[in-house]
Amino acid sequence: MREISEISSPTFFSVLNKIAPLSGTLGLYIHIPFCKSKCSYCDFYSIIHRKGLLDIFIECLIMEIDLVAENPKYYLPVRSIYFGGGTPSILKPEDIARILQVLRTKFALIEDAEITIEANPESVDNRKLLGLIDAGVNRISIGVQSFQDEELRSLGRIHDGEEARTAIIAAANAGFRNISADLMFAVPNQNIDALIENINIASQLAVNHISLYGLTIEKATPLYEELINGRIGLPDEDSYAEAYSKSVAMLANLGFSRYEVSNFAFPGFECRHNLNYWNYGSYLGFGPSAHSALIKENHGELQVQRFWNMQDFDEYIMRIKAGNPATAATEILSQEKVNLERLQLSLRLAEGYPLAEAAKFQKLADSNRLRNLIHDLECEALVRINENGNLIVTDKGMPIIDEIIASLSALIS
Ligand code: SF4
Repeated sequence: MREISEISSPTFFSVLNKIAPLSGTLGLYIHIPFCKSKCSYCDFYSIIHRKGLLDIFIECLIMEIDLVAENPKYYLPVRSIYFGGGTPSILKPEDIARILQVLRTKFALIEDAEITIEANPESVDNRKLLGLIDAGVNRISIGVQSFQDEELRSLGRIHDGEEARTAIIAAANAGFRNISADLMFAVPNQNIDALIENINIASQLAVNHISLYGLTIEKATPLYEELINGRIGLPDEDSYAEAYSKSVAMLANLGFSRYEVSNFAFPGFECRHNLNYWNYGSYLGFGPSAHSALIKENHGELQVQRFWNMQDFDEYIMRIKAGNPATAATEILSQEKVNLERLQLSLRLAEGYPLAEAAKFQKLADSNRLRNLIHDLECEALVRINENGNLIVTDKGMPIIDEIIASLSALIS
């Protein structure tokens, strides 16, 4: 991994363009690092929004886009733009419109590009939602997490269940036809009935995509403190698996297909931007802590270079204002790491992992062990092989997908 500290544009591009020329398409990610307050489980990079920060941030963000877009190799068809955070819906629609205008000028957006904004329920109203539609945003991902006030309080969220419903209804009324809701399970003291109720409510509210994540408690978060002090408890493995399985069954009944372990959609409403990550596509990220990846196929092998921005707002602003990139470091992935990541990402998807890929780089001894392992997993109905020779994790296997991936990874590397 190469650390980048004090380099300016020409060197910057020579460091970043090890994997070139690019081909294919691009996704663009814009990180908006502001939140109104910090949720008790959150370890994403965000800072509390203060007056005056937004204007300077947007100026610098546009400068960063200008700087990166100078590279003609990035002039590829852009199929998706994603405003993530933080809380991007803190921005005014005029700001989003301005950023999109710059992106349209500098990059080759395809006509029907998917343009998503993450929004928190308390930060949107009718006027803002209409403004976002006018700006060209055509997909909204609403951070509902739960419709139960008690669960929301335990997560440190600042909206309540009613605000979450209102935000979804308002988004639909404003004209959004592609609405996603984030929901959470394995929340302290959540029972399965309440979780199923959350899914039901979302499905009755013009939502056509649901991201369902199990709460993970990271160190250095207030919720972690509560956990180690015994003030909250978490579900055991069996309860976790039961909550996930019942949710998946409920979502399937309602017509939501699971296309990734945590993502469910009506046909045609899968998130194009996230599918690009999971399918190992190229993307460029802008804003503090944003990540980028350039991917090129070379004689059947994938070459991958990643780079990421510094995770410090003040430093980001300082670097960009001085005309320098905000890149913190870059790495070119070894073929072994690429193979492993391909396995890990593919198994999370409904299409699964093409076993023919493993055959290309595996030693014979390992391939025999892999065959035996897959046979054992098949006997337990945790995986299956489809008609295209893809290895697919079953509904039964999904709650323990991390263990399945770990055991397969040991034989694929
Ligand atoms: S709104 Fe999202 S990014 Fe902001 S603190 Fe809460 S979970 Fe983290």
